[in-house]
Amino acid sequence: MKAAADIIAAVATAPGRGGIGVVRVSGYDLRPLMAGILGSKPKPRIATRSVFLAADASQIDNGIALYFPGPASFTGEDVLELQGHGGPVVLGMLLRRCLQLGARLAEPGEFTRRAFLNDKMDLAQAEAVADLIEAASERAVRSAQRSLSGEFSAQVSSLARGIIDLRMLVEAMLDFPEEEIDFLDRERVLSQLASLLAAVAGLLAKARQGSILRKGLKVVLAGLPNVGKSSLLNSLVGADLAIVSPIPGTTRDSVRETIDLEGVRLEIVDTAGLRETNDVVESLGIERSWREFGEADVIVLVCDARSGLTKETRQILAQAPPRLARIVVFNKIDIEGIAASTGQADGFSEVWLSAKTTEGLQGLRDALLRVAGMEVLEEDVFLARERHVSALLAAQTSLQAAEGEFPRPELFAEELRRAHTQLDSIIGKFSADELLGEIFARFCIGK
Ligand code: GDP
Repeated sequence: MKAAADIIAAVATAPGRGGIGVVRVSGYDLRPLMAGILGSKPKPRIATRSVFLAADASQIDNGIALYFPGPASFTGEDVLELQGHGGPVVLGMLLRRCLQLGARLAEPGEFTRRAFLNDKMDLAQAEAVADLIEAASERAVRSAQRSLSGEFSAQVSSLARGIIDLRMLVEAMLDFPEEEIDFLDRERVLSQLASLLAAVAGLLAKARQGSILRKGLKVVLAGLPNVGKSSLLNSLVGADLAIVSPIPGTTRDSVRETIDLEGVRLEIVDTAGLRETNDVVESLGIERSWREFGEADVIVLVCDARSGLTKETRQILAQAPPRLARIVVFNKIDIEGIAASTGQADGFSEVWLSAKTTEGLQGLRDALLRVAGMEVLEEDVFLARERHVSALLAAQTSLQAAEGEFPRPELFAEELRRAHTQLDSIIGKFSADELLGEIFARFCIGK
């Protein structure tokens, strides 16, 4: 247990005015602080009507005191919640009174960090606390709750236990000369490894979707001037955002908008027309377009249905970073009465639509979900982070490598050990202080 004497305090409710406001305090022994501010110790876990006292015994506020003696509390320490009136000044006075009585201001996420350090929750659960607060769609909320309840951690732990079993089996084999290793043992090892690989693939699929639910998808609209990028953004968003004009090169700056597509947050960026130009302002916009590609997940390349895939369009397709999912939109099908449709070409999805009449627009929505791997949502998705996805990927790579190393038991065992370490890092069994610092610094104060 760290810093036993340290008492932390923060306003836990959002800044601004509200019906009530909460000051939260945590520390190993809050009795002296409670004596100072409440005059007495409230009964544990019972809402107690109290007067909150200043140093000269005058009243700062009155409200409800809630006392959770450690270790049966959120942080595992004594926790006190003072629920008063939700005004910034009165809450500030209440907080300063706590500081006067020996508390210090809590850092962002410090309550949750203490909960983690005191084994009240593992690291993936602690992260889910912040993700739940940040969740931008109902689907994200439900997935965050699943991670917070420990379902995700439980599946990671069960995978880790499977690896431990297999490691024990393999390390026992290491003690015997090659010729004495039973054929049945080999079979057992291989079949256990196969089921671990299947389990890690299942978990990875859910974590990937969870990670997209958490951070959303960045979609870049690109294409030559005047093909209808701005119009397409407008019809996707359903409002007039970007300037639509028949003069090529009017979208000089990137315009971005966020939409919720079946619970997936899409950040759509309309880039300036990508073409060689002598216009200085326009070329600045173009430079920015290429920069947008660096952070994007999907590129939607718009062209005119009448001209089809032009040489320039192919060039943009070829120049875009390889990791981007690619969708080519053939716009303006209304002009020549072409039917709306979708298809799959080599390396990209095709959608034929009209940004003007919105015919075929659903095809684009479906394609966006499909390229993100979100068209069929896995059941019980966990809100996951990039960090979890990379750890699961690394564990999967090690397990696959183990399969290849099967004839060499030492190397096989080493790959299993690596996979195991990766899984442990998700729930924070062995986490570097820097990682913890980075994770908790992103929390809000008072959580
Ligand atoms: P951008 O330069 O690629 O952003 O193109 P805009 O969205 O500004 O559109 C250029 C012109 O094409 C405008 O006059 C639009 O009204 C027109 N336009 C865009 N989409 C369609 C479409 O689906 N059908 C028709 N008929 N015209 C369109």
